[in-house]
Amino acid sequence: MTPHHLHATAAAWSLHTARLRLADLARDEAAQIAAEAMEAPSLLRSPIWGSRHAHGGHGDPTPGMVAVDDRPPRRNRWAEMVERVDAKLDWLACQLGDTVGFDPLSRVLTAIVRLQPGTVRLVAQHLADEDTWIRNAVGLAPARELLPGVDCPHCGERQLYVQTAGPIERWTVICATGRLCMGQGCPCGMPGAVEGVAHIWPRAAVLVPSKAKPEAA
Ligand SMILES: [Zn+2]
Ligand SMILES: [Zn+2]
Repeated sequence: MTPHHLHATAAAWSLHTARLRLADLARDEAAQIAAEAMEAPSLLRSPIWGSRHAHGGHGDPTPGMVAVDDRPPRRNRWAEMVERVDAKLDWLACQLGDTVGFDPLSRVLTAIVRLQPGTVRLVAQHLADEDTWIRNAVGLAPARELLPGVDCPHCGERQLYVQTAGPIERWTVICATGRLCMGQGCPCGMPGAVEGVAHIWPRAAVLVPSKAKPEAA
């Protein structure tokens, strides 16, 4: 995989995690809205007021009850976000020629491996933008952990992070210094090194035992 492919795969798995969190919130919100809808009629059957009709005017003594009854169910904004994200992913999967399967993100993931680097670079950006948008909305920090005591294969600084979304064999490592690849001849050792791309390695390529050194060495 080229660095572009690694970035796209990492972004897709990160988006997968964020999307699961979003779906959880949508489900909880739907349950909450359903519970509220169950409560509203019981208010109107209050023994004090009898089974009043809900449409009162200014003189109606139960304005609060009227307001509850007339309101349409509260919007489930999390569910709307899920729909929006899924529609965009479905569109993306179709653009990439993958129309088979149900889950749009799985289809994008399947498509990534056979994309040309120029295309996959755009896909990676799109997925990363979507991931950031969801994570900001749901308050989910990026899925990454510092790798203490491991030198960056490129700059040697110990500011590597492992990106932990998705299955462990898909985890990747990035360098927090933000130093970009110099392309051919860059000492990073990335397969298919591309000038100007943020460094990224498969986790297994960085976490070999000989590279892990004690902090106090
Ligand atoms: Zn570095
Ligand atoms: Zn490099």
